[in-house]
Amino acid sequence: MQKQHNPMAQIPTLKPPSSKKNVFHILFLCMVAFGLVMGLAFPPLEKLYFNDNTPISWSFVLMCTTAGITVGVANYIIFSLIVSRELRFLVDGMNTINAQISKALFGNGKHDESFAIEVRSDDILGEVTKAFNVMGTTVEQRLYQEASFREIVSALSANVDLEQTSQNILQYYIESTCITSGILYGKKDDKMTLLASHDIDTGSNLPKELESWQGIIKDAIESGTIHTIDTEKQCFDWVNVTTPYGTLRPKTLRLIPLTADKSTVGLVVAACGQSDHPESMQIETLKTYSKYMAPYLQNALLHHKIQEMASYDALTHVLNRRFGLIRLHEEFSTALRHRSDLSVIMLDIDKFKNVNDTHGHEAGDIVLKTVASTIALNLRNEEVICRYGGEEFLIILPMANLNKAGLAAERLRKLVAQQTSLYKDKDILVTVSLGVSSLSSIITQNENNLINSADTALYHSKHMGRNQVSLFRNNESILLPKNK
Ligand code: GH3
Ligand code: MG
Ligand code: MG
Repeated sequence: MQKQHNPMAQIPTLKPPSSKKNVFHILFLCMVAFGLVMGLAFPPLEKLYFNDNTPISWSFVLMCTTAGITVGVANYIIFSLIVSRELRFLVDGMNTINAQISKALFGNGKHDESFAIEVRSDDILGEVTKAFNVMGTTVEQRLYQEASFREIVSALSANVDLEQTSQNILQYYIESTCITSGILYGKKDDKMTLLASHDIDTGSNLPKELESWQGIIKDAIESGTIHTIDTEKQCFDWVNVTTPYGTLRPKTLRLIPLTADKSTVGLVVAACGQSDHPESMQIETLKTYSKYMAPYLQNALLHHKIQEMASYDALTHVLNRRFGLIRLHEEFSTALRHRSDLSVIMLDIDKFKNVNDTHGHEAGDIVLKTVASTIALNLRNEEVICRYGGEEFLIILPMANLNKAGLAAERLRKLVAQQTSLYKDKDILVTVSLGVSSLSSIITQNENNLINSADTALYHSKHMGRNQVSLFRNNESILLPKNK
């Protein structure tokens, strides 16, 4: 078994001094000695001052030294009473704070009380109290940071979903640093893509992708160091903070790169609020947070990429059959739960074999890509297209009834028929046949029946001459009149 490295073993242990001095004993001796010296010095000085030639009596010397010693002892008692009381207050305060620190250290790091002692005097004791309070504040911040990091690590470790991770990262910056609002970009396929935002106007001004970054953004990303922007001087107008009173342009912004494995995987563009801490300390805190969070963002981006690769068709970049069917299952369950409608369109390219035979397989691939992107670009946000088979696509239209889906299918048919695919200076034209079915027009508890009936309608369109749309209604396929 490998021996565990013990970091404590390296810390040299301080030897306790054999005998410790007692400041109050020394003070006592000094004061009594001073009293004694004063008592002994007083009789000759008195004789000198009053020009008195009579000899000094022993009883007078004894009286003076007794008085000197008494004053010394009294001084010591008064001094130690006043100073001891103040020191006791300080010691009690320190002990209470030490107990609070231990409690916070072994608890969750959070605490309600402040780690500070009341400063009661404007002297060396006051200075000691102030110095202790500075130390207390540093410990307090460290504890708070550690507690936050523990929370961050457990929340970020529990989730690899990119959206959730991005929101968590931004949230932690906002909760634990000077940042009050900001945006997080993450590196997807060499483009910094908008992943999350907090109190930032995400309207048209805000770029969803920082494609070819330049200037200060380029510097921040490439150097991996935090940059500060004066938005007025640098004409930086695309980040506006949303407030209850409208949108505002922050005066300064910070660009905080998240660097993992020596490469910048993300960028936070943030507005910072007022802070009591010096600027250098704020920057150091932001740097520490970024160092902790960058690997989690990197993991989530990687996970997202793997998921995308697994769910998208490599040629057409639309969902593949497996993930398309998962999506259909989800939409089908939602529709049943909410008693809402759901339609599907099956679409097949007409005489596609001819394209391959005439222009070659490569040309066929380009046509497939063109058809898929023409459809994908003309769908609404909630609508989904997947490549169901070779040249066959499934389109899911949540909440659409048969008539609405029929109109959508007819619109797509026309769009594809008008779209040319360019291959080696040749424009290739194709048409598609479509079949539509809706949950409300068939009685089923199974999404496969929805696909089968749309397929039946599709083959009706093929049978009726291709480049047509058919609806599956009342157990039969009906051709939709063409909208020329
Ligand atoms: P129909 O109008 O009846 O649908 O006729 P069709 O020629 O489109 O149908 P058929 O099923 O006879 O041919 C489909 C062709 O699609 C055959 C296959 O080689 C081609 N195909 C399937 N997947 C791909 C692909 O990824 N790339 C290319 N280039 N061709 C493909
Ligand atoms: Mg075909
Ligand atoms: Mg086919």
